[in-house]
This record gives sequence, C-alpha cells and structure tokens, in this order.
Amino acid sequence: MAVLVTGGTGYIGSHTVVELLNEGKEVIIADNFSNSKTEVLDAIEKITGKRPRIYNIDCRSAESLEKIFEENHIDSVINFAGYKAVGESVKLPLKYYNNNLFEAVTLLEVMQKFNCKKFIFSSSATIYGDPGVPEYVEEMGRGKTSNPYGTTKAMIEQILEDLYFSDNSWNICILRYFNPIGAHESGMLGENPNGIPNNLMPYIMKVASGKLEKLNIFGNDYDTKDGTGMRDYLHVVDLAEGHVKALDKLDKEDSGLFIYNLGTGTPYSVLDIVTTFEKVNNIKIPYEIVPRRPGDLAIYYANCKKANEELGWVAKKGIEDMCRDSWNFEKNLQ
Ligand code: NAD
Ligand code: UDP
Repeated sequence: MAVLVTGGTGYIGSHTVVELLNEGKEVIIADNFSNSKTEVLDAIEKITGKRPRIYNIDCRSAESLEKIFEENHIDSVINFAGYKAVGESVKLPLKYYNNNLFEAVTLLEVMQKFNCKKFIFSSSATIYGDPGVPEYVEEMGRGKTSNPYGTTKAMIEQILEDLYFSDNSWNICILRYFNPIGAHESGMLGENPNGIPNNLMPYIMKVASGKLEKLNIFGNDYDTKDGTGMRDYLHVVDLAEGHVKALDKLDKEDSGLFIYNLGTGTPYSVLDIVTTFEKVNNIKIPYEIVPRRPGDLAIYYANCKKANEELGWVAKKGIEDMCRDSWNFEKNLQ
C-alpha cells in the first residue's frame, strides 16, 4: 500500500517524501517538474537510501493519474502539486485557476474512481483573509482572499467540504501552513525558486550569496514591536512531519474532514529574521526600508492547539535552525 505524493519533488513535497520514507512508507511521486528538478530524487535517495518511483506527469491528466492507480496500490494521496507564486497569480489568474483547480478536481475524480478516499491537502493561512485578529484559529473559517493563488486554496477547501458532504466515507485532512522556511539539515534539499524570489527567506538567501545587492524590507511602520511585519515561520522539516502525523490520523479514522493549522504559534519580525540569520551564519545582510507591499498584513500567527492535541504534532525547530539550514542548503548551490 503506497502513498501517492503529487508535487513530491517540490520544496515541501520532497521533505515530506523523506519523512514518509524514514517512517517506512512506500511512496510514489507524481510531478511534472514545472517547478522542481530531477536531481531532487538523487538527494532523496542519498538521504534515505531509497528511491521512490516517479511518474513525470501533469496531474491534470486523468489518463496519466489512472495509470498510476492501475500500476500501484495507492491507499492515500498527499496533494502538493500546484502553482504558488502570489504575485504571478495576480498577473496570470487563469494559469493559477487552471492548474490548481483542475489538478485537484481531476485527482479527486480519479481517486473516487479507484475508491481511494484518504486525502491530505496543502492549504494556507492566506485563506483566513484579514480576520482582524493576529491569532488564527481553525474555527474562524475562511475570509476574503487577496489574490488568485489564495482563492484557489479557498476554493479547493470548499470543494473538499462539498465532496465530504456528498459522500462522508471520504477521509480528508486540510493542512493550513503558515510560513515554511528552512531546509533539510543535510543541505541536500531546500527551496530554490527560479528568478527573483518573492518570499523573505529565499530573497535573503540571494543577498547572502551576493546574487542580489540588498534586501528590501517592506515597511517599518506597522504596529509591531519593531515596525516590520511579523509572521509565523516554521521549519520545513517540522511541516513535513506534520504530514506524517496527519496521515497517521487518517489511518486511525474511518472517515472525516479534519482541518489543522501548522505553524509554531510564535511570530517573528522581518528584522528578527535578518538579525538571526546574520548571527548564526556570520554574514551581513544589507537592507533598505522601502514602502509597504500592497496586501501585506502587519502580523499573524497560528493557534496550533488543535494540531498539538489531535495530531500529537508540535514544531520543534526554532528560527536559528531555520536560518542556519536555509543557508547550509543555499551554500551548496554555489
Ligand atoms: P513547489 O512549487 O516547490 O512544489 C510544487 C510541485 O508541484 C513542484 O515540484 C511542481 O513541479 C509540481 N507541480 C505543479 N503543478 C503540477 C501539475 N499540474 N502536475 C504535476 N506536478 C505539478 O511548492 P511548495 O512550496 O513545495 O508547495 C507545495 C504546496 O504547498 C503547494 O500546493 C503550495 O501552494 C502549498 N503551500 C506552500 C506554501 C509555501 O510557503 N511554500 C505555503 C502554503 C501552502
Ligand atoms: N518581506 C520583506 N521583503 C521581501 C519579502 C518579504 O520585507 O523581499 C516581508 C513581508 O512584507 C512580510 C514577511 O517579509 O512581512 C514575509 O513575507 P513572505 O512573502 O515571505 O510571506 P507572506 O507572509 O507574504 O506569505
């Protein structure tokens, strides 16, 4: 019995595949390498001693997905495949609606056809919109999303709720990630976006390696401890372990629709990240304060009580680990 991991060579998917293999699970990956490289498979093999079977397919193709289900005994699916760049989604909304929505719906249809009903979905804190309080609790439900990427996440959550309502033999877990950063401690897996990064840690990485001159800090006049935006950063390996726990939970349940925040519950400011990065890696990060980025909130973080209690999951790594491991991976790319 195998776990199908779509998007399993991407940033979060690859770390999750490692944790699943370490737990002795059989893993099948489906990825079209639109945002990842085949070398990730070598890294997974070096770390775990196992090379998962990979299908180089577009997960919007029902025919290709059906082949995977015909050739393997798939018991559960973790769905990471999708596009994730917020700014690009504003410019190219149809690209995002097409890939993220068709991929999810096609996958669910194929699962239904093969009577495989255990499904874990990568959602995001962005679905809360702007609830007016910094601590996000699952019960708050979805707010108004601020970009097409976020809207695809909210729509897929709704699709999953509708699906479960129509047939409550489904066993679904929605995981709402906060801000994943960091890399595998081996330095062999991490995040390596194409082009100029949008997110904070990948951008800092390019400054640290001299590829970009300085970090632009988007505003220092927020109502936060130092005026810069605060987020709940969590280590990608902790996040990956959250998926293993979520799978354990679904294995124990006959059916259900479960929703969990995955974060640390502790927000850090942009300046906290910059100064910690400088300290643990002994590298100066030049920065300039520039105007706020449209759509950014001052501060938000996860209430993780539900994941702690029901999944037995807690993030163990701190921001020093996140900053050190991120740089350790980036250095290997030089
Ligand atoms: P990623 O881009 O590194 O990984 C996604 C993978 O999916 C890539 O390997 C890509 O090649 C593949 N892919 C995309 N479309 C595909 C398709 N149609 N068919 C087959 N493969 C396809 O992204 P990530 O950071 O690992 O994110 C994984 C998931 O988690 C995404 O759904 C993302 O939206 C979600 N998420 C990410 C973050 C974050 O900050 N990284 C936060 C919240 C949620
Ligand atoms: N940020 C910044 N400069 C950058 C990228 C991000 O100052 O080049 C800030 C951003 O305003 C926010 C935090 O860093 O306060 C995290 O942003 P990121 O894009 O990584 O994640 P988000 O929370 O927006 O999903």
